[in-house]
Amino acid sequence: MQSTEPRITALVDAMTLAEQVSLLSGSDFWSLPAIERLGIGKLRVTDGPNGARGGGAFIGGVRSAAFPVGIAVGATWNPELAREIGVALAEEVKSKHAHVSLAPTVNIHRSVTNGRNFECYSEDPMLTAELAVGYISGLQSQDIAATIKHFVGNESEIQRTTISSEIDERTLREVYLVPFEAAVKRAGVWAVMSSYNRLNSTFTSENGWLLNTVLRGDWGFDGVVMSDWFGSHSTAPTINNGLDLEMPGPARDRGDKLLATVAAGEVSTETVRQAALRILRLMARTGAIDDHRAFAEAADNRPEHRALIRRAGAEAAVLLTNDGTLPLAAKGKIAVIGPNAKTAQIMGGGSAQINAHYRVSIWEGLAAALGEPALTHAPGCANQRYQPTFLGQFKAEFFANKTLSGAPVHVGDQEDALVMWMENIAEGKVRPGDFSVRLTGSYVPEESGTHVAGIRSAGLARLLIDGRQVCESWESWTRGTTFFEEGSPEMTGEVVLEAGRSYPVVIEFAAKEASWLAFSALGAGISRPLGAQGIADAVAAAKAADVAVVCVGRTADWDGEGQDLPHITLPGDQNALIAAVAAANPRTVVVLQTGGPVEMPWASDVAAILQAWYPGQEVGNAVADVLLGHAEPGGRLPQSFPVKWSDNPAHSQDPEVYPGLDGKVRYREGVFVGYRHYQAHGIDPLFAFGHGLSYTSFAVSDVGLGGNGTDVTVTARITNTGTRAGSEVVQLYITPAQAPVPRPQRELKAFAKLHLAAGESREATLTLCRRDFAWFDVASRQWVVTAGQYRLVLARTADGTDWTGSVDLVAQSWPAAER
Ligand code: BGC
Repeated sequence: MQSTEPRITALVDAMTLAEQVSLLSGSDFWSLPAIERLGIGKLRVTDGPNGARGGGAFIGGVRSAAFPVGIAVGATWNPELAREIGVALAEEVKSKHAHVSLAPTVNIHRSVTNGRNFECYSEDPMLTAELAVGYISGLQSQDIAATIKHFVGNESEIQRTTISSEIDERTLREVYLVPFEAAVKRAGVWAVMSSYNRLNSTFTSENGWLLNTVLRGDWGFDGVVMSDWFGSHSTAPTINNGLDLEMPGPARDRGDKLLATVAAGEVSTETVRQAALRILRLMARTGAIDDHRAFAEAADNRPEHRALIRRAGAEAAVLLTNDGTLPLAAKGKIAVIGPNAKTAQIMGGGSAQINAHYRVSIWEGLAAALGEPALTHAPGCANQRYQPTFLGQFKAEFFANKTLSGAPVHVGDQEDALVMWMENIAEGKVRPGDFSVRLTGSYVPEESGTHVAGIRSAGLARLLIDGRQVCESWESWTRGTTFFEEGSPEMTGEVVLEAGRSYPVVIEFAAKEASWLAFSALGAGISRPLGAQGIADAVAAAKAADVAVVCVGRTADWDGEGQDLPHITLPGDQNALIAAVAAANPRTVVVLQTGGPVEMPWASDVAAILQAWYPGQEVGNAVADVLLGHAEPGGRLPQSFPVKWSDNPAHSQDPEVYPGLDGKVRYREGVFVGYRHYQAHGIDPLFAFGHGLSYTSFAVSDVGLGGNGTDVTVTARITNTGTRAGSEVVQLYITPAQAPVPRPQRELKAFAKLHLAAGESREATLTLCRRDFAWFDVASRQWVVTAGQYRLVLARTADGTDWTGSVDLVAQSWPAAER
């Protein structure tokens, strides 16, 4: 391919300084300005990582395919599948007329309560790196840029826009930077997003050590660094320290301010030129430079994407326990119980959410396979964080003031009472910070009795049912953590309603100055608490069935951006529900949908536990495939599941370590993250990193050890000894020699996933190089292999052993910048 470098160099030199500067901030939320004089098109970005949402607000918008979330991809342990997903997502990004995907998210599962763990792959840097390389290679093979994020130290959502992650350099180099380094060096990633947080006191968006010394200097990154949305806070410090692009637009600290700092000599023209050149390089790589088409988004609901999502969902599902009840026999009555049975939980919440083409619930997946007569249903209990959204059409009357006064300036429709207003509100007839709106709709209760209604809002809001105000976040508005920390807590009230009657629902909303993100938002909903009768009905259904499938877990309001989880207990009465159903029917299968571990006091009382995560729009079909044995459970845990929250290294016993104190969160556990922590402290997890059962069985044999010095090769024969097809993941850990610094008992360094037919046998080859044995010496800025004996462990979980060997290594070291 002909190099585009001469073209972009000529272009940047043909630009005025002001034109160069114009490329260094967004023109709106999701795009950069075109430069028509020079024929330069418009670069557009879209969120990921589990889909391509397209332009507009975070909620609603053009429909898209919902793929498995990050932790589900993590559980596949399959970089080739991650690559396939990347290729498919590139098509999705193109359907939204974008050139850049704001994905993947590769922060490490440090704390089990991080609200965004669902979006990230794993607690292990090596597994994360391999999956990121696959995903990025897939996207970029289709000329769509990946934007690996959030660089770096964004392992919690608490005070995320101000907190300083205090992480020592060795820990950064050995754990948190690893996926980014692999993305740059091995996948040639084209863009990086700085995180919101500070790193060791300095915002990452102006951290010269991070962006210039490590990313560009040590690793040779030649792409674009962009800020997280509203995550850049200065003019000269950001650009001088390596941030090319301030997002979103219009410019806040760039534009005229940047021109002024250049005039004042605080920023050199060459610094601006280099940053503009990198933007042009991204435009050339993605074709945006020649994209002059009028903006057009489309919903592209492709059968091949649906099939891929369904397959990936099954490959991500981790069978945690099984007494032989699974796969289910095709005969007999199944009671499908639980709050997630008829509500499809397909993804997490926040900027990763998309308007999915459709959502297949577990009930629908089983019904499609077995027919509804084979099934019975009982919800059992609720698991929501907020009251379930009022669904249906609302009339939306917009006023060009904050008091709902005068005649509306625009009347439109609003689908469902969960809405976010950003740019171009009411067809541009109101200003984003200065409007009010009245939504008018109706609600027909299914059952009579006391209902609980709730409202939460970024802006002021009140909810009236049947003419009476039931709750408000207007007079009582306080800042909570909803809507990216711009919204109030949910305010609730009770109302007695009769089944079958249609009640008028009115929601009034007035915009309010946002402190950080420029949007208004509102969520309103209602439910009738099930109470003790809910569990009693579930028990009756379980008793009358051959098998009870209990669909429990969390929702996107729990596993979401902007707030951490308050604990890892299953929300609501779900633990009681499972215990009661398990007592009623010994063939109780728990299908768990969460973005990470929960405490499972009932783990040994149920017949089987399937962790299904949030696998996208095909969740019901993928889960049914696995439950019925049409597909095997291909997943292995990408995160250790502790017995209890306090076993986790980042538990709030020490607030300095988590959630943080005085604006700082101290990563004191250092490199001892995930299984490295549990092993160092002799804590047995409930389910180990790497764990996952199969419907068949495997043997590992004929292990061979070869190579020279630190170039080590381990070969092993893996045989499917059962009667069904299945896959197995062999994992190679090293136990390092004694070093001058404390090192973990085991570190994952290579793995292989093999799909084998019944009776089939194949050889896996796992290779190691010098870096796999090294630790980082901060004083000398060198990677160091300490001389001594290194144990190698081939296993199928972080605490298992199929084979051990050892290699004796001589001392070696090399500079951080050596590639
Ligand atoms: C998130 C990013 C996302 C951006 C744009 C931020 O709130 O942290 O991951 O890409 O918004 O939606």
